[in-house]
Amino acid sequence: MSIKSFLNGSADLSPIQQKMVAEAFTVDLNEPLVFQVGHLGEQYQEWVHQPIVSKEGPRLFANDVLEFLTRTEWWAIPLIWLPVVCWCLTKSVEMGHTLSEVALMVVFGICLWTLIETNTAHYLLHGIHHKHPTDGLRLVFPPAAAAILCFPFWNLIRLITTPTTTHGVFGGGLLGYVMYDCTHYYLHHGQPSSDPGKHLKKYHLNHHFRIQNKGFGITSTLWDHVFGTLPSTKTIDKKSS
Ligand SMILES: [Zn+2]
Ligand SMILES: [Zn+2]
Repeated sequence: MSIKSFLNGSADLSPIQQKMVAEAFTVDLNEPLVFQVGHLGEQYQEWVHQPIVSKEGPRLFANDVLEFLTRTEWWAIPLIWLPVVCWCLTKSVEMGHTLSEVALMVVFGICLWTLIETNTAHYLLHGIHHKHPTDGLRLVFPPAAAAILCFPFWNLIRLITTPTTTHGVFGGGLLGYVMYDCTHYYLHHGQPSSDPGKHLKKYHLNHHFRIQNKGFGITSTLWDHVFGTLPSTKTIDKKSS
């Protein structure tokens, strides 16, 4: 039994029968969502990209503790993670690196994060954010989930750094993540007055409401250039003109 058919609860059905099950299934937004969306099967992509714009967020889990862990205030992100960044950088200095060397590691770590931002980040918590883009408590990563993800991220960085530069690059990556999550929150719930801010907001709302398969970058459009997922400027400007 594949994981997908297990999640769909339709392991013994032919593909056509599975499709019929999926088509007959509708999501009840008044019930916990997490174990319902698997039933959507191939319809998931279509469902998740039809946003519901309301101030009220959906319930994900029936369990109160799990449910609590899925709601995150944006300020929890810098509050929890910036001290970890500071600890990493202090560690680098203690290991004998100069401040300019540490700065270089941080910049490298931030670049590494921006690459991850457009890929991995998109799949985690992103579906719920696309379906309910105005739910401010389901926008930034829950710290419990981010803490778990720190382990593979640390191991990845350890592979490409020397033992004394791991902390600095990891700290930079984490700093990049904090900037990403706060920027993302600001693009949805803030009113940028500067031109770059206005552009990023337009760029991201365009990703939500016009072309979901383009314009993944939040803090920069760099990797959308690299991966060829840059929306044409025409489509971005259409709505505002
Ligand atoms: Zn997205
Ligand atoms: Zn968003």
